Amino acid sequence: MGLMTRTSHLLNADLHCHSLLSDGVLTPAELAQRAGQNGVQLWSLTDHDELSGLAEAREVCRTIDLPFIPGVEISSTWANRTVHIVGLNVDAENEALQTGLQAIRDERVSRARKLAERLEAMGVQGSYEGALRHAANPQLVSRTHFARYLVEQGYCSTMQEVFDRYLGDKRAGNVRVHWSRLEEAVGWIVAAGGRAVIAHPGRYIFDATQADAFFDAFRQMGGEGIEVVTGSHQPEQCRKYTKVAQRYGFLASRGSDFHAPGESQLDLGALPELPSGLKPVWHDWV
Ligand code: AMP
Ligand code: MN
Ligand code: MN
Ligand code: MN
Repeated sequence: MGLMTRTSHLLNADLHCHSLLSDGVLTPAELAQRAGQNGVQLWSLTDHDELSGLAEAREVCRTIDLPFIPGVEISSTWANRTVHIVGLNVDAENEALQTGLQAIRDERVSRARKLAERLEAMGVQGSYEGALRHAANPQLVSRTHFARYLVEQGYCSTMQEVFDRYLGDKRAGNVRVHWSRLEEAVGWIVAAGGRAVIAHPGRYIFDATQADAFFDAFRQMGGEGIEVVTGSHQPEQCRKYTKVAQRYGFLASRGSDFHAPGESQLDLGALPELPSGLKPVWHDWV
């Protein structure tokens, strides 16, 4: 692969996905193989609040000659809302990043207990133990693991139904959690030599004023990028965030947010092209 293709907006870059070390179901090795088989040309593993899958992912990528970018997706709060910030090209040995993520993982464990109590009140039995059975990494118990348990037990037939009826931000899922503050998340990523990227902007329920304030604050804190092409964007959202990237001077990222075969919208690498007229977040990662 030549220099031109590696830095081009047409590169099949997939810079957002999850292994079983967070709320995916495949191992880092299985994901690396799958990315390679699906034609991904630049790949990042970005587990929620967790770095422990990166060494295995990097090792397999070395054996199959797949360029690899170590990443993470940090749970964060801005203006009382949860936002996700992807850190790309981070040094997984960085202490500020490691300590910050450990604090978030501790929050997840106590949050899971509260969530299970609320679900119990809604008639769902045994969800704490049930969710943990689905969580390969018990430190990283997520609403996704609760959702898989509710589907398994027949409370709902799809993951979407679980989020609509039980786990959404307006339902039992709305347990107050002390994630990182936005400036902390961006700060850890920058301290670890990485690039901070706003994950799936189309998912946040901000009005236009709040969205502008969010993008401004993120940029002032040292944030550099935004996902324009993601598994959670419809075509019109892709167009909308293309304009946002241009207006704010953000680097543009592309990632499937793949979690599990048959469960995720998009498979690894099966993404629309990054629109032209954007500077890819990978422009200088050759
Ligand atoms: P948590 O970080 O524990 O609050 O869990 C959030 C995770 O739930 C996200 O990373 C997604 O993987 C998953 N999720 C959120 N909303 C939905 C949805 N509507 N359908 C399926 N999965 C969802
Ligand atoms: Mn997830
Ligand atoms: Mn996310
Ligand atoms: Mn994600």
